[in-house]
Amino acid sequence: MASIFWFRRDLRLEDHPALNLAIESAIADGDGVVYGVVSESDYVSLSTLSPIRQESMYASWRALDEQLGQRLSRVADALETIISRAKALKVQKVFVSAAYDPLSVAFMKDARQKLEAAGLALVVGPGNYAVAPGKVVKPDGTPYRVYTPFFKAWFELANQEPVTLTPGGSFKRLDDHLGLDSPDYPASFEGAATDPKQIGRVRAGQEFATRTFESFRRRGALFAYQEQRNRADLSGTSHLSHALAHGEVHPRSLLAQLGSSPDETTFAKELAWREFYADVLWHNPSSLTDYLQPRFAEMRYDDGTEHGEARLAAWKAGRTGYPMVDAGMRQLLSDGWVHNRVRMIVASFLVKDLHLEWQRGADWFEHWLTDFDPASNAHGWQWTAGCGTDASPYYRVFNPILQGLKFDPNGDYVRKYVPELHHIDGAAVHEPWLLVDGLAKGYPAPIVDHSDERNESLARLAEIKVD
Ligand SMILES: Cc1cc2nc3c(=O)[nH]c(=O)nc-3n(C[C@H](O)[C@H](O)[C@H](O)COP(=O)(O)OP(=O)(O)OC[C@H]3O[C@@H](n4cnc5c(N)ncnc54)[C@H](O)[C@@H]3O)c2cc1C
Repeated sequence: MASIFWFRRDLRLEDHPALNLAIESAIADGDGVVYGVVSESDYVSLSTLSPIRQESMYASWRALDEQLGQRLSRVADALETIISRAKALKVQKVFVSAAYDPLSVAFMKDARQKLEAAGLALVVGPGNYAVAPGKVVKPDGTPYRVYTPFFKAWFELANQEPVTLTPGGSFKRLDDHLGLDSPDYPASFEGAATDPKQIGRVRAGQEFATRTFESFRRRGALFAYQEQRNRADLSGTSHLSHALAHGEVHPRSLLAQLGSSPDETTFAKELAWREFYADVLWHNPSSLTDYLQPRFAEMRYDDGTEHGEARLAAWKAGRTGYPMVDAGMRQLLSDGWVHNRVRMIVASFLVKDLHLEWQRGADWFEHWLTDFDPASNAHGWQWTAGCGTDASPYYRVFNPILQGLKFDPNGDYVRKYVPELHHIDGAAVHEPWLLVDGLAKGYPAPIVDHSDERNESLARLAEIKVD
């Protein structure tokens, strides 16, 4: 009997215990044949996402297909195809990696039922976390709600040896076996629905992730991580978020390459934030879209008002008149990735300067981010909005000008993404309205006054009496 491996957010071959289970089963029950399948019909509808996000998905699939010697099958609907082909392929078991976000959990529950009804078994192997969500618990067995103690407990469990690909498996395309050109799925991995301008803009895959990590070390950024990771104008972070979100690298493989220097430990702590948020979401599935602290749902927001919606549109387009916010929003549209510090600045601005609910921003991020991750996105937003895990109180309101001066001290980041401000040298770019010709090239005046909106936001907080 052959196996089917259904690749979802685990698009790699190395350090992949779930894939190894599929290979071992195929070897034990037959000639080691594994059919690798990816599907557009997983829980998001690919064609509704931004062109750059669609292209990033195709880039990941192309890279995996290449690793498999062009033997990956892209199918329109994985379940339908698997069920309809299983008999002809002599397959009884479908393997998949565990996923923990609520939409994936529901999707997989449904998939299991449908496969079992068709006489097929769904075997779920380990997923893409150093420690699976739900496994790090306090001595009394309850989950952590605070990051620092979570990190300490997580770190004890996280350092495990990576595993290598089980030898002896042979990957095949579904149509290789059937000997026909299948009308059910497109042969190519080019993103038919995506904007042609995006093709080639996103580099992806396991080998690219390995090179990205090597370059992070080689250029010294890993060893200056504490000092530089908050600087938006420098390449001070790893840029591994797409690879981690798509499972092109397992976090365990990264942890295994880290020493114990303070910079390397700080990097491990960032990997742990990803795992902490996955854990929080696992224990609180409704926090994907609801307030983790429900009191915040009672707050007054400007969603649905004419001025609120107009401000949302300005925020999305990167035309708020605050250069650091606008540079971030334009980086999102152009690169599908935004520096972490800038994600916090734009998120704080949406919630605390524009008084809009965090979910509006999270949806926009989901549409554009090539590293979109349900837990990191929802909880990155909730943390910044002050309604999530404990670390960031609501009354902490980022000042977009001071943040710009601190984390883009020469203004290079702003000038890179906001061409209407190219004519302003140095840090003055963060306050163009102070210059005679600052707004001369079409850059807008601020749509709100930050200090007024900060006061307004604190007044609304007082109404819901949060400590
Ligand atoms: C509002 C908001 C939304 C976010 N949405 C996402 C998202 O959808 N997907 C996503 O991967 N990250 C998200 N983040 C977290 C963070 O911004 C990105 O992981 C980081 O910018 C990716 O760049 P990097 O790989 O160079 O990070 P590095 O600094 O090199 O960090 C290494 C890895 O650690 C993890 N990590 C780092 N910081 C965080 C963090 N604060 N929270 C969770 N994981 C972290 C990521 O997997 C990252 O790739 C969000 C943060 C905020 C404030």
